[in-house]
Amino acid sequence: MGKPTGFKEYARQTPGYEKPEERVRHYNEFTKPLSADELKLQGARCMDCGIPFCHQGCPVNNIIPDWNDLVYRDRWREALDVLHSTNNFPEFTGRICPAPCEAACTLNLTDAPVAIKTIEQAIVEKGWAEGWVKPDTSKPKTGKKVAVVGGGPAGMAAAQQLARAGHSVTLFEKNAKVGGLLRYGIPDFKLDKAVIDRRVAQMVAEGVSLRTNAHVGVSVSPKELLDGYHAVLLTGGSEKPRDLPVPGRDLDGVHFAMDFLTQQNRRNGDEPVGVADISAKGKKVVVIGGGDTGADCVGTSNRQGAASVTQIEIMPKPPEKEDKGMSWPLWPNRLRTSSSHDEGCQRRWAVSTAAFRGAGGKVIGLDCFEVDSKFQPISGTEFKLDADLVLLAMGFVHPVHEGLVDGLGLEKDGRGNVKADTVQYVTSNPKIFAAGDIRRGQSLVVWAIREGRQAARSVDLFLMGKSDLPLC
Ligand SMILES: Cc1cc2nc3c(=O)[nH]c(=O)nc-3n(C[C@H](O)[C@H](O)[C@H](O)COP(=O)(O)OP(=O)(O)OC[C@H]3O[C@@H](n4cnc5c(N)ncnc54)[C@H](O)[C@@H]3O)c2cc1C
Ligand code: SF4
Repeated sequence: MGKPTGFKEYARQTPGYEKPEERVRHYNEFTKPLSADELKLQGARCMDCGIPFCHQGCPVNNIIPDWNDLVYRDRWREALDVLHSTNNFPEFTGRICPAPCEAACTLNLTDAPVAIKTIEQAIVEKGWAEGWVKPDTSKPKTGKKVAVVGGGPAGMAAAQQLARAGHSVTLFEKNAKVGGLLRYGIPDFKLDKAVIDRRVAQMVAEGVSLRTNAHVGVSVSPKELLDGYHAVLLTGGSEKPRDLPVPGRDLDGVHFAMDFLTQQNRRNGDEPVGVADISAKGKKVVVIGGGDTGADCVGTSNRQGAASVTQIEIMPKPPEKEDKGMSWPLWPNRLRTSSSHDEGCQRRWAVSTAAFRGAGGKVIGLDCFEVDSKFQPISGTEFKLDADLVLLAMGFVHPVHEGLVDGLGLEKDGRGNVKADTVQYVTSNPKIFAAGDIRRGQSLVVWAIREGRQAARSVDLFLMGKSDLPLC
């Protein structure tokens, strides 16, 4: 434990942001990191609890009290080793994880949890800056070949673990670059893509071979994988978006959020946008869906120069503050206002859409109504919203079945995800494994990393009969 009285002496501090009116002029990250001295005091706030709820709350079971203490003692390199022992990519989670660890922290009982995520990001960034993050090629080659299909965080974590176990890993990705939703969904202002690139370079140096523009089930035959590899791990994500089949859905100007977000990420990454440009410039934008994807649409619309942005959500408005006695140490249901909302957005809750209105084939607005707690219409609450761009950000139902999943003839669970448990991660075909959103459904980056790591261990066991890879 750093300083026994630290939590009483020092206030919680997290990075500042560039002002909204300045940051909406660009797509870069806009946080202002804490200094080393400030971080040390944040580390000192950790109480090294007898039962570290933070550690249990973290899906990758980060050993949080230990690295808090090491940062307090200026032992950054050891802190980095502890951090990497449970998480291949702390630079991703340090930026975009909702931080269930902080919700679980004992100090969250007084609304001032240890700034765990801030410390996590600082440790790994120091590691990169100091040149401490190096390729790990210590294990001899096993001669076993593994195909990992899908280059998101689950596939990246699994590929890195399997390469470090000595296997020859090929990572298949249908896009031009790996990263999955980290690269093509999450905007640059939340995660700079150079952060992905430097990790990919490390993986390549560790022996992971990348096959990009390789769409398994479309341009690459699933049979090639089954015949050419000793094991196959599917990490293709949950890419089938939830639709809103109401009258007017086919009007020009109604798009899935991911089509809009991907285009902007491609523009920023100097990649061809592909199909017709979707732009919010000068438009009245309505975002349907109140989650992370919706918030990313709000931030991107404002950067593109939208005339106005409105976000509607069918769920009721959550309470401003949770009842800790009921929720702690679990993830609480409460109102969350992201940095994108602070940049300008009208928000409405308990709202459903009856139809999209159009003129000349283009969307001009929405017919909406309010709903009760059972999502039933409340009569007399009907209202109209003007819109010339509507973005559907209502989540994802399951993986795309055509091509990969059905091409391999795999069993699905009741929700349409690839069926596999969380011990072996094996599918209905004993040679094929599945992890991340393709198995668990739409989730979080930290869960994808966990599943990628655990599935890698299971594949290693399948191939070798034993495994030194960690259980988590
Ligand atoms: C807009 C948006 C914002 C989000 N923001 C956050 C956030 O702030 N924090 C957070 O924790 N989570 C966030 N999430 C959720 C998070 O991104 C996902 O849970 C996570 O990326 C899932 O990882 P994955 O590796 O399982 O799948 P994905 O990241 O979806 O990666 C799957 C990869 O597989 C590839 N692929 C699919 N099929 C094939 C095939 N047949 N052949 C070859 N390649 C294939 C895809 O192109 C993709 O690259 C967000 C999601 C979205 C959509
Ligand atoms: S719960 Fe909070 S105070 Fe306790 S060990 Fe974890 S980070 Fe430190």
